[in-house]
Amino acid sequence: MTKKLIVGNWKMNGSLAANAGLLQALLAGLGDQAAAADVALCASAPYLAQLQALLQGSAIGWGAQDCSAHESGAYTGEVAAAMLRDFGCRYVILGHSERRQYHGETDDQVAQKAQRALAAGITPIVCVGETLADREAGRTEFVVKRQLSAVIHAVGHCASEIVVAYEPVWAIGTGRTATPEQAQAVHAVLRAQLKAASAHSSRNRILYGGSMNAGNAAELLCQSDIDGGLIGGASLKADEFLSIIASCP
Ligand code: 13P
Repeated sequence: MTKKLIVGNWKMNGSLAANAGLLQALLAGLGDQAAAADVALCASAPYLAQLQALLQGSAIGWGAQDCSAHESGAYTGEVAAAMLRDFGCRYVILGHSERRQYHGETDDQVAQKAQRALAAGITPIVCVGETLADREAGRTEFVVKRQLSAVIHAVGHCASEIVVAYEPVWAIGTGRTATPEQAQAVHAVLRAQLKAASAHSSRNRILYGGSMNAGNAAELLCQSDIDGGLIGGASLKADEFLSIIASCP
């Protein structure tokens, strides 16, 4: 079985002081749980130096929540993938639904960002997921396949290097989680798509995200095609995040 990957997406939360407390509690609490899963935290760009300083050499990796589709140059406010690499990022979340929804990110932009991340030696965590309207119209499979296909096409032979996160938009921050069966069904579709794209698809991990918490993590994480979790709200509380990590089979 693939080692699970549990990633905290702090979103636009935190402060130097709050992060230090949270990281201290996580490092103290993790103990030998680290072996059960790979663990990483994705913070806002200003805090990456703090994560690098406090997590270097620990069992917790770190990453960012977005990167530019451009390599460098006159793109005010953007952060290049190579800059993230300077701060030791192992991962970058790309195409999160909050970026697609509030910043109009397109499948093509997400695909370009994934190329930039891979070129900088960073693993993209590519988010896909349907809205409630999509699901109710029976378009879930179509939407997630379209979103993933843009990235697979752009990254070519590197397709096995990406992590995919299935995050149904209706489950994010709502307390409404996909049932293990609903999540597994979509993960199986994504798995088949990754298999068709690369002979090395056994390296791909597919995470579930959307109101995952200490109470529902175990039943989601034991599904055959769920290789980990992308955790929002529950990653801001040390005890809850540790308990999700401990739920990994
Ligand atoms: P919540 O866990 O807060 O629902 O957020 C999920 C998410 O968007 C992770 O990227």
